Amino acid sequence: LLFAYEPAKRLARLQISLEGAMVNARMIYEILDEEPDQPDLSGDQVLEVKDAEIRFEDVSFSYGEASPVLHNVSFVAEGGKMTALVGPSGAGKSTIMSLLPRFYDPDGGRILIDGQDVSKTTKDSLRHAIAYVSQQPYLFEGTIRDNIRYGRPEATNEEIEEAARLAYAHDFILEQPHGYDTPVGEAGMSLSGGQRQRISIARALIRNAPILLLDEATSALDTESEVLVQKALEQAMSGRTVLVIAHRLSTVAHADKIVVLLEGKVVEQGDHRSLSTMKDGLYARFLKMQDVGKRHAEKELQLLDGG
Ligand code: ADP
Ligand code: MG
Repeated sequence: LLFAYEPAKRLARLQISLEGAMVNARMIYEILDEEPDQPDLSGDQVLEVKDAEIRFEDVSFSYGEASPVLHNVSFVAEGGKMTALVGPSGAGKSTIMSLLPRFYDPDGGRILIDGQDVSKTTKDSLRHAIAYVSQQPYLFEGTIRDNIRYGRPEATNEEIEEAARLAYAHDFILEQPHGYDTPVGEAGMSLSGGQRQRISIARALIRNAPILLLDEATSALDTESEVLVQKALEQAMSGRTVLVIAHRLSTVAHADKIVVLLEGKVVEQGDHRSLSTMKDGLYARFLKMQDVGKRHAEKELQLLDGG
């Protein structure tokens, strides 16, 4: 197990590194002070992506010696479709996401992309296939341009601008004092939550990866940002296999498949229609709140998640 016996501080840093780690395998090694070529951590088959179907087969996992957090998790995220992970805080949603790019490896079971076991593929080819938009987008020290280019270091300025346009970020970027060359990050311009998210979406878009992992934001954005972030995400999702940790009822209802998790187990899965008619189902319970009003239901779904 990869980080099984690492001190808590190291694990905390892993969380922070998630955003950047998707960008470049070397980057996590830098952040985690790991040796770049641990032979047991990387297979030698180059992942060949066709439909970008993701398959979890009986996956079990525990963090170090702690009790298991995933128990025989099985589901298929179909290529080109949106699959939503739903469930209360601590259910294991984020853990599932971190297994796919192999921040950790399962204790049992297999994770396959287009039938290829991710534990046998090279890390580079695996991470190349995956883009990630985190709940709290992380901006690095540097300019806006640097922050987008981070998604693909060889990207040209034109490609950066194109990604920013698709992410509905281009206009506000031009309004910054130095446009794309405006510094951001701790010492730089402070941007709104919605602006940071759109930069992070542009960074994911420029990777042009067939798989998008999306941890939907829980924090409320102002209405304008909310609309723009939503549009940007729609751009990012189109034509990709999307695995989303969904906090909003509107997202969940749009998903092609919903996987409901409870205490590390898949308790329900199906589409919105089949789950909503399931008697005493957890998902059906979310939906009942719609009778009380959509706003209330959204709140409830967030309460159910929290993390
Ligand atoms: P969710 O995203 O559904 O809220 P997580 O996958 O974050 O759930 O967490 C599942 C369980 O694993 C929780 O009990 C959580 O405390 C535990 N956990 C999550 N991350 C770590 C970690 N880095 N080290 C140890 N335990 C963790
Ligand atoms: Mg989580």
